[in-house]
Amino acid sequence: MSLSRRQLLVGGAIAVPAAALALGRCGGSEPAPVRAASRGASAQRTREVERLVASQPTIEGAGVHLNRALGGRALNVLDPFLLLDEFQSDDPNDYVAGFPDHPHRGFETVTYMIHGAMEHKDSVGNRGRLGPGSAQWMTAGHGIVHSEMPKQESGLMWGFQLWVNLPAKDKMIRPRYQDIRPETIPELERDHARIRVVAGKAFDVEGPVLGIAVDPTFLDLALTKGATLEHPLSPDHTAFVYVTDGAVRIGDAKREVRKGQLAILTKGDRFSAFCDASSGRLMLIAGRPLGEPVARRGPFVMNTDEEIDRAYEDYRSGHLTDSI
Ligand code: MN
Repeated sequence: MSLSRRQLLVGGAIAVPAAALALGRCGGSEPAPVRAASRGASAQRTREVERLVASQPTIEGAGVHLNRALGGRALNVLDPFLLLDEFQSDDPNDYVAGFPDHPHRGFETVTYMIHGAMEHKDSVGNRGRLGPGSAQWMTAGHGIVHSEMPKQESGLMWGFQLWVNLPAKDKMIRPRYQDIRPETIPELERDHARIRVVAGKAFDVEGPVLGIAVDPTFLDLALTKGATLEHPLSPDHTAFVYVTDGAVRIGDAKREVRKGQLAILTKGDRFSAFCDASSGRLMLIAGRPLGEPVARRGPFVMNTDEEIDRAYEDYRSGHLTDSI
């Protein structure tokens, strides 16, 4: 059993871009613009900041320094989201070690690069380079073993990794990759705001990531001073914001959220952001909560401890990636 604990903990490794927002499908069938107090009361409700969480410095993989906004002690789970790491450094010592071979089962990892490049390789021969502005939505399903390594030895590396849970019925499906090249991510300009649509919909433009169980929204939003942005969100979706640069103000309360902070949003069907700083960049991520038990250990996320034990056993015996 040569599996080191470190190998099994690499889970949170790479940075992924995070944002999955759930926009788009709200509103249409929600008639009354009244703030009803009874059930079905979410019509026209603005999502406010429910809680702010500061990202925490963490070391992952073979020694990569990153900031964890979700998946640590301060905020462990935000159903269906399991982890959000940001890596941003121009010191190669912080990132060159990368994330050598490690397994995943039972969920999806999303990598989003702003600057720099990573190379992804897996046990069955998939290989790809993730450059600036690109995304990879990887559905681990029953199992993959992969490495995520920097493709640079100097300069700024800035990216994100988001973990998205799979429903119990999909945890053992065949692995699937959606490698999204930068030019295939729609980029819109609206009133001092720039919007990149990775997943979900914004202003009727649909992002390239498709067929994901939790119906995610993942938007990268860059606001300049004076910008106001409104976006519909499914009222039942979990939604959060992670500010990647500058500062923005969220909701009718215009609560300030600054670089490195994650803001959990209240339920509602309307997201609004306003920028009165010189600029603000944020990821808006949303998705349908699964409401299922979460058992997680290292790089595996299942529904029960027994299923986690089985994942370790399959990995040790070399069967993690076998199809069923
Ligand atoms: Mn990984």
